[in-house]
Amino acid sequence: MPSNVQTRRIWRNAVVFDGLRTLEGLHAVVVEGEKIAGVLPMGEVDDSRYNHHQDMGSGGVITPGLVDCHTHLVFGGNRAEEFEARLEGVSYEEISRRGGGILSTVNATRQASEDELLQSALPRLDAMIADGVCTVEIKSGYGLSVEHEMKMLRVARRLGEFRPVRVVTTLLGAHALPPEFSNNSDGYIDLVCREMIPAVAREGLADAVDVFCEKIAFSVAQCERVFEAAKAHGLPIKTHSEQLSNLGGTASAARFGALSADHVEYLDAAGFSADLCRWNIETPAQLAYAVQSGRLMTRVTFAVTVMRLKWRNKLWLSASRRCLMAAICRLYWAAVTKWPSRTGVAWQPTWHLESLAREWAL
Ligand SMILES: [Zn+2]
Repeated sequence: MPSNVQTRRIWRNAVVFDGLRTLEGLHAVVVEGEKIAGVLPMGEVDDSRYNHHQDMGSGGVITPGLVDCHTHLVFGGNRAEEFEARLEGVSYEEISRRGGGILSTVNATRQASEDELLQSALPRLDAMIADGVCTVEIKSGYGLSVEHEMKMLRVARRLGEFRPVRVVTTLLGAHALPPEFSNNSDGYIDLVCREMIPAVAREGLADAVDVFCEKIAFSVAQCERVFEAAKAHGLPIKTHSEQLSNLGGTASAARFGALSADHVEYLDAAGFSADLCRWNIETPAQLAYAVQSGRLMTRVTFAVTVMRLKWRNKLWLSASRRCLMAAICRLYWAAVTKWPSRTGVAWQPTWHLESLAREWAL
């Protein structure tokens, strides 16, 4: 602990999660300037040594800053009516067919100015910061033209200047087919690959490129064209895949070394095993996301994820262990899919109010 008693702040009676584990009992966290100077059990605190006190009320948690790696924070309009329909059981595909879904947000986003989008996004960002988010990824995807996708990304960049949070931006030009390209999805992919990605890369507006690989969006082959264009411009890739059906987008993302594949609710056993054992990604948290509930299986998921990270980091690479890894993956998948009642895993897309709100515009 530091000996200097000047400008020292203390947060008392906190539950402290250090990034790996939750410390037992209540603790105090001491901060000097911008740095954490120490963590003390409450019994060892000498109040006279500190000149700024904050009591966490025997229930507050102090944790490393949270990273929200998938948001659609910038958009125009709102889709409250669709939210109600979804709660009543109307499928996302049905809403999309009725003219709702992404395209209704596209219209509102195109009509909004950069400043209007910024002003509407700030309260959403503030809510996330209040929840402890320190880094946030923000996707475009409601402009669906070079001009409006760039507008969205500029707004995302500006949000990082207006608030004390690190913003990472993702171009999601291949999110939906814009009305002017109806019945010409290949033509729109041409636009994304030949004009949108080069323009965004030239201005440094995106840190990654995302796609929506789905029946109501783009095929695996079309998404792979986007991956190749992104890689040609030095941008890493991500996917929305296996969200509504099992098309093979996740496996494709794995082959292209994607940063992540998000959603993956419909990934089948073959894809699961293959992807888990081949992928060379940095953020495999999506596995945990896919398994929405179930104490035991959630723990197994984390165990598998840790093993996978060890493997990726070349902590063990022998062929026999790879086989063991594949076998564990298959057993895990069999348990989840064949005995859902025993494992406590609901292997159907389930609406989580929190994630639904965050994923409001998909
Ligand atoms: Zn999304």
